[in-house]
Amino acid sequence: MKKVAIIGGGVVGLSSAYYLSELGYQVTVVSDDDQNKGCSYGNAGMIVPSHFIPLAAPGMVILGLKWMLRNDSPFHIKPRFSKDLISWGWKFYKAATPANVQRAMHVLKEMNMESRNLYLQLAEEESLDFSLQTKGLFMLCKTSHALKEERMVAERARQLGMKAETLTAAELMSMDEGVEMDVEGGVYFPMDAYMVPGLFMSGMKVLLEKRGVSFVSERGKGLDMRGGRVIALQTSGDLVRADEFVIAAGAWSSELIKALKVNIPLQGGKGYSVMVDQPPAYPGICALLSEARVSVTPMNSAIRFGGTMELNGTDRTVNDKRVGGIYKSIPDYYPQFKNTDFQKSDVWVGLRPCSPDGLPYIGKFKHYDNLTAATGHSMMGMSLGPVTGKLVSQIVSGQKTDIEIAILNPDRYN
Ligand SMILES: Cc1cc2nc3c(=O)[nH]c(=O)nc-3n(C[C@H](O)[C@H](O)[C@H](O)COP(=O)(O)OP(=O)(O)OC[C@H]3O[C@@H](n4cnc5c(N)ncnc54)[C@H](O)[C@@H]3O)c2cc1C
Repeated sequence: MKKVAIIGGGVVGLSSAYYLSELGYQVTVVSDDDQNKGCSYGNAGMIVPSHFIPLAAPGMVILGLKWMLRNDSPFHIKPRFSKDLISWGWKFYKAATPANVQRAMHVLKEMNMESRNLYLQLAEEESLDFSLQTKGLFMLCKTSHALKEERMVAERARQLGMKAETLTAAELMSMDEGVEMDVEGGVYFPMDAYMVPGLFMSGMKVLLEKRGVSFVSERGKGLDMRGGRVIALQTSGDLVRADEFVIAAGAWSSELIKALKVNIPLQGGKGYSVMVDQPPAYPGICALLSEARVSVTPMNSAIRFGGTMELNGTDRTVNDKRVGGIYKSIPDYYPQFKNTDFQKSDVWVGLRPCSPDGLPYIGKFKHYDNLTAATGHSMMGMSLGPVTGKLVSQIVSGQKTDIEIAILNPDRYN
């Protein structure tokens, strides 16, 4: 039986382990097992076919520069001299074009739709309970300017064959009677879904252990090579030997393979979330607050709010001003909430693995025929986890992939 070592036990690593074990591989997941460190636990849990526009899109550079001037804005780049950051920024600037969006949107839509199906399958066939809800998602807009932009996104979604409805404030509130909304209107994406990510992760781990997947709780330090092949992963403990290796180490992936002289540009996109266990009102459909870039997800009886994107390598310190920016924006949309509702909540921090063109890196590296990349999913990694795992299993086993993913080639910046 062929052995596969997966470095990284986030949603991408565990999903890859699942589909590889289905094909009969003997799988080991190596992850420095600090749950709070991985991005896959405290995120907003949204499964988003509606997100077919990558982060690198026209208008984002100007918007980002405007946001840089405010210390509580949803986007920030910590000013510092870093060759990696400068090079990443330049690549982002070059990628933020209509042509990039056009190229990316079909593959993102197809992958998100397939991942949604796989989540449904996992819930049903494996009896995994992660509170999956297929109620759709609201994109809520306070201003007519934002509503106009979201209306255009909805039109594009319909052209791609997805359902999307523009709604007035009264229509939104009649669909979600649990909460008052002070908005101009919004868009409803009925194909979107949401879950409790921590439940998915713990359920998957139990399932994988039952299937014979091994877990090694160590930090991967580097790869031992012979010829064009990886033969072992060095860890703080024993060497992990395998026939195939998968890099799924989230925002830390590029560091791990730097010595191989392959370049997968990545920046950690730091974001925060907080749980409100006893909310004063209960939004029953997950939502994104368009201007504030804040996510709102019902998770059983609690509500999780998330937001901000700070590009600063792999630094995980919490910036209270930006967390305050999340709190401040919520009562603007949901007037039943007050700033003080969040004061008792612990702040969770996660690093999204962000590529400059907003697309993941999935595939084998040209010069290393047993090394597969599976990272760079940015703000869609939870949504795209299962489909990525399935694609990884097809790549490792030499099958044709179900989805055409040439544009996700991990060598595209080499
Ligand atoms: C606030 C917030 C909200 C979000 N909301 C959503 C959402 O609603 N929907 C969505 O689709 N996405 C969302 N995301 C993005 C999503 O969480 C990430 O894209 C996704 O979790 C990335 O998964 P991953 O497996 O690639 O990385 P991770 O979950 O970060 O896992 C990587 C793992 O590898 C380990 N590791 C790293 N280096 C090494 C090493 N050298 N050796 C061993 N182990 C190592 C890490 O400790 C970590 O456990 C959100 C992110 C944030 C911050």
